[in-house]
Amino acid sequence: MNAPTVTEADERALLDAVDRWLVKKVAPVAARFDEADEYPHELVTDMCEMGLYGALIEPEYGGLGLSALTYSRIVARISQEWMSLTGFFNSHLMMAIIVQKFGTPRQKDHWLPKFATGELRGGLGLTEAEAGTDLQGIRTTARRQGDAYRIDGAKLWITNAIRGDILALLVKTDPDAEPRHRGMSILIAPTRDAVTKQDLPGVRRGRQLAKLGYRGIDTGEIAFDDYRCDAELCLVGGEEGKGFAMATGGLEIGRVNVAARGVGIAKRALDESVAYAQVRKTMGKPIAEHQAIQLKLGEMAAKTRAAELLVEDAARAYDRGGRVDLEAGMAKWFASETAFEVATEAMRIFGANGYSKDYPIERLYRDAPLLMIGEGTNEMQRIIIARRLIARNPV
Ligand SMILES: Cc1cc2nc3c(=O)[nH]c(=O)nc-3n(C[C@H](O)[C@H](O)[C@H](O)COP(=O)(O)OP(=O)(O)OC[C@H]3O[C@@H](n4cnc5c(N)ncnc54)[C@H](O)[C@@H]3O)c2cc1C
Repeated sequence: MNAPTVTEADERALLDAVDRWLVKKVAPVAARFDEADEYPHELVTDMCEMGLYGALIEPEYGGLGLSALTYSRIVARISQEWMSLTGFFNSHLMMAIIVQKFGTPRQKDHWLPKFATGELRGGLGLTEAEAGTDLQGIRTTARRQGDAYRIDGAKLWITNAIRGDILALLVKTDPDAEPRHRGMSILIAPTRDAVTKQDLPGVRRGRQLAKLGYRGIDTGEIAFDDYRCDAELCLVGGEEGKGFAMATGGLEIGRVNVAARGVGIAKRALDESVAYAQVRKTMGKPIAEHQAIQLKLGEMAAKTRAAELLVEDAARAYDRGGRVDLEAGMAKWFASETAFEVATEAMRIFGANGYSKDYPIERLYRDAPLLMIGEGTNEMQRIIIARRLIARNPV
């Protein structure tokens, strides 16, 4: 059981606080930060203060200990206003969850309180230039040298890599192992000195990638060259060869999060469309009275609600405990495809105004496609769903 410790009243209070913050602080600036692709320092500080960097970390380590259900509702609300903001703390929490689920007692005591407050902010470093879907093809190595690991290699497309302080890195501790996943481990690798905030020796930060959407957040390259970290603190679980399972386990909550982002995008695109269709007139009447627009709104509304219910289903399954790749995969696939479809339909309903930066639709339309790629592509989701379905129903 991934025990939720928050009451319904607590959840309502938290969602209300998030809503007030979205209206007051985020709505007025989101389009500007997106356009400038600028890191929103003040909003990141606000999210730390609201406890979002510790949302899924247990209270004994200073986190909020939220259920995945409450968490998914927060993510959906924030994504209605500006999806990028959810990436800052979700990438960080995927790193934290790996320590919380698989770390040694010493690792949990050492890392989790700093992760919960956002004193150390980080992410999950799996992908490399030659290995995204095929994670077992990574080349980054970690070799034990006395009490330390020496890490060499480069990660690409890593969220929070440029401005973050730390990463959970998927590495090869035995590059020759067969099957390949048996040679993989996860290391918690600090990238900045805790006091000076300078890069640690052996860390080389590359460029921040320019992106279609999901702007304002730093997604980039980071390389490790003769980098050293303390083996006892860094090798998650203290045992080599378990990293692949940890990474795929950590992705489950990531998929619930991505699906919730999709719900947020779809809801906003739907709400905007319902309002706009009643105001915009052609042929002497609001476009909402044309059947062609009604057909769109009907389908958009039904799919958005279905996505929301699938996310709830996956989040509840996650909260019950055990593997949830089937439920998380279904929610992730359906909600992300829905987000893109609904944003595209909203653009049609808005006509030229949908294409304009003066309206919110074009940003929803640019943000949505990431959801079909991140935390496992939608091609892979359907394969995972089918495999789990067959495994659960053997003949
Ligand atoms: C904005 C952004 C942020 C990201 N943040 C992070 C992060 O924080 N940490 C991190 O580790 N990664 C991150 N990623 C990387 C992301 O997880 C990968 O892009 C994703 O896993 C896909 O890998 P790839 O891009 O290498 O595509 P590829 O693996 O090259 O796949 C290309 C195409 O082939 C398909 N394909 C591949 N293999 C198969 C197969 N066996 N069967 C069927 N189809 C297949 C894929 O579905 C896809 O359509 C981020 C990516 C983006 C765009």
